[in-house]
Amino acid sequence: MKSLQNNESKIINGKNYSRNFLIDISNLAKSFESLSNRKPCLAVILVGDNDASKIYVKNKVLTAQKTNIKSIEILLPNEISEVDLLNEINRFNNDDKVDAILVQLPLPNHIQVKKIVNSISPNKDVDGFHPQNFGNLMLGNETVVPCTPLGCWYMLKKELKDLTGYHAVIIGRSNIVGKPMQSLLIKENCTVTITHSKTKKLAKITNKADILIAAIGKHEFITSEFIKPKSVIIDVGINRKNKKLVGDVKLEDALNIAKKVTPVPGGVGPMTIACLMYNTVKLAYLRNNIKFKEISL
Ligand code: NDP
Repeated sequence: MKSLQNNESKIINGKNYSRNFLIDISNLAKSFESLSNRKPCLAVILVGDNDASKIYVKNKVLTAQKTNIKSIEILLPNEISEVDLLNEINRFNNDDKVDAILVQLPLPNHIQVKKIVNSISPNKDVDGFHPQNFGNLMLGNETVVPCTPLGCWYMLKKELKDLTGYHAVIIGRSNIVGKPMQSLLIKENCTVTITHSKTKKLAKITNKADILIAAIGKHEFITSEFIKPKSVIIDVGINRKNKKLVGDVKLEDALNIAKKVTPVPGGVGPMTIACLMYNTVKLAYLRNNIKFKEISL
């Protein structure tokens, strides 16, 4: 019983962090409304009928409503042409009352994701995937940061305060998670190692990680042998195993060896949605030339 209680204290509660963060964001949204007579506005485009995407979009829209953010949701058929989708995005680009645009990924195979991402106006790019925003992040400039890495950063700062000098190992080099995470951690003075499917002797590297970020997409891939004692683990993975959601990290092993770990569900997921709301409000302020105070933790 005692060891179970000890282990529970090792959980990084993303739900609690996101709840508190959303209160701050909601207040920022209210201040925006009192200054500009309208709520910050997020436009969400969903193409096709991918069940997981539908759930993600529903959660985003519900969270927006609770956070004093107006949301516009459009559902487009799976067979929509690339040109028609680009036209829909352009309509939102040109609508002055829309502050942020999100195109839910994945898209059907006949649509080039790169073309779609590049067509979103950088000052409405709520995911921070546009090359201009992504480049600014790499350069260490102020910009819109992709939501998942921003949420991971938020929890690490809350847990560890000063990240200076920690060795952070990221597993995964995607543009959505791994690469932007690397930039955020370098800015925090971590020593960062980024690994991927071609990395040799992965466990030897992760074994030296004070901070381990797992963004692989393979259920419970990270077991005891990969984990450094007393490390902090952020599990980004969302995988289905026997109809259950599990992360990239075997939670039981992490709880036994690490100092802290984010669970799946209830870790990175809720923080990602909170950060989407944060980016929406931030874009609303910036687009309307209202001074915006960045989160500093
Ligand atoms: P990608 O598939 O784009 O990237 C996965 C990365 O993992 C790649 O860089 C790949 O290497 C690497 N990888 C795969 N197998 C191995 C291996 N055996 N050893 C080391 N590295 C490996 O995925 P995403 O970054 O988009 O997402 C990763 C996970 O995070 C998924 O489970 C996804 O569902 C989840 N996710 C969760 C979010 C949330 O809000 N909680 C948001 C976004 C993603 P290589 O480049 O060589 O192929």
